[in-house]
Amino acid sequence: MKDHTTCVVTPKVKTDGFDPLGVAVHRGSTITFRSAEEYANRAARGMDGYSYGLYGTPTTRTLERKITQLEQGARTFLTPSGQASNAISMVAFVGAGDKVLIADNCYPPVRDFATNDLKRLGVTAGFYDPSSPRDLERRIDDRTRMVWCESPGSTTMEIQDLPAIVEIAHGAGALVGCDNTWATPLNYKPLCHGVDIVTEALTKYVSGHSDVLMGSITVSTEALAGSIRGVLGRYGIGVSPDDAALVLRGMETLPVRLAYAFESALELAAIFRDHPLVDRVLFPPMPGCPGHELWKRDFLGASGVFSVVFKPEVSAHVAATLDTLQVFAIGASWGGTRSLVAPMQVRANRSATEWTDDDLLLRVSAGLEAREDLRADIERMLAALEEKAAVRGAW
Ligand SMILES: *Cc1c(COP(=O)(O)O)cnc(C)c1O
Repeated sequence: MKDHTTCVVTPKVKTDGFDPLGVAVHRGSTITFRSAEEYANRAARGMDGYSYGLYGTPTTRTLERKITQLEQGARTFLTPSGQASNAISMVAFVGAGDKVLIADNCYPPVRDFATNDLKRLGVTAGFYDPSSPRDLERRIDDRTRMVWCESPGSTTMEIQDLPAIVEIAHGAGALVGCDNTWATPLNYKPLCHGVDIVTEALTKYVSGHSDVLMGSITVSTEALAGSIRGVLGRYGIGVSPDDAALVLRGMETLPVRLAYAFESALELAAIFRDHPLVDRVLFPPMPGCPGHELWKRDFLGASGVFSVVFKPEVSAHVAATLDTLQVFAIGASWGGTRSLVAPMQVRANRSATEWTDDDLLLRVSAGLEAREDLRADIERMLAALEEKAAVRGAW
């Protein structure tokens, strides 16, 4: 072989006996075949075989397998973001003339997707009260192909009664999908409560380090897998093995990170709850908070994200006091190692229900810093708010 060719043709080296704990990054677009016959029959390899890098590599399949196990589903597909997982879960099952009913507390881009893109495809997007299975029952009809849930809603934190919703939806012949990003499959298993499709923004807790975007779609039965797989292939959507390896690495510490963040969040939520300028705290795992009873019934644990409603007279000053924070960062995409706060406006993202509290919520995500530093930071912020309130004579 000429040197020129040696540079191009890569020799196979022995791999048996090399058993590292980390997952190998298998990069590849083209997959080669040992014979023309194997190539001709490549479609027969099925969903577990390899035929093109876009359709899966050993690295991405490893991550899919882990998520399938945690969700207790039949099969998982990876997508480039949590939002892609939500959009694809819907688009794979609906067509012109169908209707989808979406929980009013959904991740806002889901609302945008439904009211723009699904509408353009001739699909009617309706919304329902996430806290009221009766409201869903009133709105569902025989055109409804899918009911979409997010429990708890990742900003307003309503816990949905999934078993009741599943019964209503399945009774009407509709599928049920659920965005499970807040809980992660460790703290909630929607498929075990009868849901058909569950999505995760792996971008958040599962990857856990704010440095990669990815989503997952897990289906309850093999019968649902073909539609998702088909859409992913035809739209040309897949993920890189490098990114999948980052998610796999982050996932190894997921249970430990979640447990620490939850304990920190409970402490911080109590500081807010007990403060006179706070109206209420939205954190279902906390006794007395909305959704606590359903959370206790259905969930296995909790994460470190909660929201705070301030008294209306100081709400307008909350955003400015965030500048006093020294450890918390200001940002939206929670679930990493750093604690985050984000002022969120919720009223404009409602159509089936009315948001009667103050429009501004402060969403807090507890990270992995020392609790003493986090407490001090929040106390500093609340002191700044007290000062502003006193100056304005509001308090
Ligand atoms: C962040 C988030 C998403 C979207 O995830 P990306 O990977 O950022 O697209 C979807 N749903 C919920 C509940 C989220 O918090």
